[in-house]
Parts: sequence; C-alpha cells; structure tokens
Amino acid sequence: MKNLGIIFLEGVYSNVKRILFASDRVTDMELRNKILNGEIVPTDKVAEVPCIGCSGCKNVCPTGAIEMVSLEEPVEVIEGIIKKEKPELNTLKCVHCYHCHDFCPLYALFGEAGTIHPNDVGDVNPDIKELLEKPVKISEDKIAYISKFLSDNAVIRKREDQNSK
Ligand code: SF4
Ligand code: SF4
Repeated sequence: MKNLGIIFLEGVYSNVKRILFASDRVTDMELRNKILNGEIVPTDKVAEVPCIGCSGCKNVCPTGAIEMVSLEEPVEVIEGIIKKEKPELNTLKCVHCYHCHDFCPLYALFGEAGTIHPNDVGDVNPDIKELLEKPVKISEDKIAYISKFLSDNAVIRKREDQNSK
C-alpha cells in the first residue's frame, strides 16, 4: 500500500498546481472570468409577450419548477381571454422533461412553438390574436386531456363557441 504521507503530499501538490497554474480545469479561463464578472446572461425560458398565462405549464410540471407570478396590469390577449399571470421557470428544480413546452396550448393545440422551454425559448413571436382564432386540428380526446391542465380554459371554450356557430 502506498505510504499515507506520500498520498497526502501528492494531494497537496495537485491542489497547489490547480490553484496556481489552473491545471485540470474543464472550464477555460475566459469563460470563467465572464461568469465571475456577470457577463454571461442566462437565456430566456419564457416568451412573455405571446404567453397567454393559462398556467398549463405550471400544472403539468412534475417537479414544481414553474411558478406563476402576477402581472402588474392584466392584459386582454383577445376578447374573452385576460392574462393575469406569467410563468417563471426555476432551472434548479427542472429535470428537462419538456412537458411544460409540449403541453403549452400554443404547441399542443395549434402546433406552433410553445412559449416556454427549459433550455432557451428562443424567438417565439406568433401573431397570438390570429393564432387563437385558428381551428384546432387534434382529436376531441386529446383536447379534453390537454384542457385538464389549463387553469383558464378560455382557449378551449372559444373553440367550442366557434364550432357551435
Ligand atoms: S422541463 Fe423542467 S420546468 Fe418544464 S415541466 Fe419538465 S421539469 Fe418542469
Ligand atoms: S402553458 Fe404556455 S401559454 Fe400557458 S402559461 Fe405556460 S407558457 Fe404561457
């Protein structure tokens, strides 16, 4: 067995090497400095403007990583749909299951990119008024399943109104 004193000295030596000469570092110095200087801006997880505030993402998240926060002023998205809250995603609790995106009604009902994404929501900027007037092309069973997660079912009700005309 290796002498304990030698193991200890080897440990001290490699730590001194890491501290003084930055050896064994996985992150390069330029990136480390940017992180330390606050120059790395986290990517947006929510596209706040087109989000309709339905809470579907929060209700479907298995880890409680999404919290709905009140808007200072409610926004009328379209007639009959008032947005009062927006989601905030806590990356520390996220397990990247993508349920939030996949159950977002913009994606699930209309096939457009959802307004929340665990990595980077990107540039999601549909014409929300036009989109919500579009017919939904998925089965009644699927609509019923998705609607269980939407706190505000106004999108679904609107569609039913359109069908009954
Ligand atoms: S991807 Fe993350 S935030 Fe979205 S539902 Fe899954 S755990 Fe929740
Ligand atoms: S499910 Fe989509 S539209 Fe609904 S609150 Fe979440 S991000 Fe916004």
